[in-house]
Amino acid sequence: MAHREAPPPSRSGAEGLRIGVLASQGDFAAHTGMLRSLGAQAVEVRTPAEIRDLDGLVIPGGESTTITKAIERDGLEPAIRAHAEAGRPILGTCAGMIVCDRAHLALVDATARRNAFGRQIASFELELQINGIGPDPMRAVFIRAPWIDEYGEGVDVLASVDGHPVVLREGQVLLCAFHPELTDDSRIHALLMAMATAGSDAPQRCPA
Ligand code: GLN
Repeated sequence: MAHREAPPPSRSGAEGLRIGVLASQGDFAAHTGMLRSLGAQAVEVRTPAEIRDLDGLVIPGGESTTITKAIERDGLEPAIRAHAEAGRPILGTCAGMIVCDRAHLALVDATARRNAFGRQIASFELELQINGIGPDPMRAVFIRAPWIDEYGEGVDVLASVDGHPVVLREGQVLLCAFHPELTDDSRIHALLMAMATAGSDAPQRCPA
């Protein structure tokens, strides 16, 4: 599948970014592969220490209950929160979108609905227009996907299906209901890397 006009990670500084992919459960290997193809140093992370000092973090698809339990079991929440509070970007995809919502880690002011497209429609693909990644639509693979039921004013909806938000951004958190790691279109991952690069230009916050 052609991926046209992918915004390259905005500056050469994007190459060599250290991006962690939460590897407790789910579809993490395809994410590391895609990030490496963009020049990132992609690492699987499973412990708080591994989450420290990342330039970006991916919370992949899988099973949101299992991922949430693993985050609790392994004591990862403070490290994920510290990462977010330092202004470092997070990409949550499918189950990862649910894990970031108000009812879970509350990293975005939005509520996700699990299996929102219905259990019958387990999986489908469509061409999706997404703001912020260029004019060409992206082939989006949805697998028992959530959508966003409700969101606050600070949230930017970047794409919707039948009026339901499926890609959104609030500050440095980017959420995507489909699986951007399953095609060869790497623009969502490139956007995460561009967010990491832009974030690293921001003045460092002084810890209190
Ligand atoms: N339906 C899953 C859940 O609710 C998410 C599916 C996925 O990540 N592909 O956790």
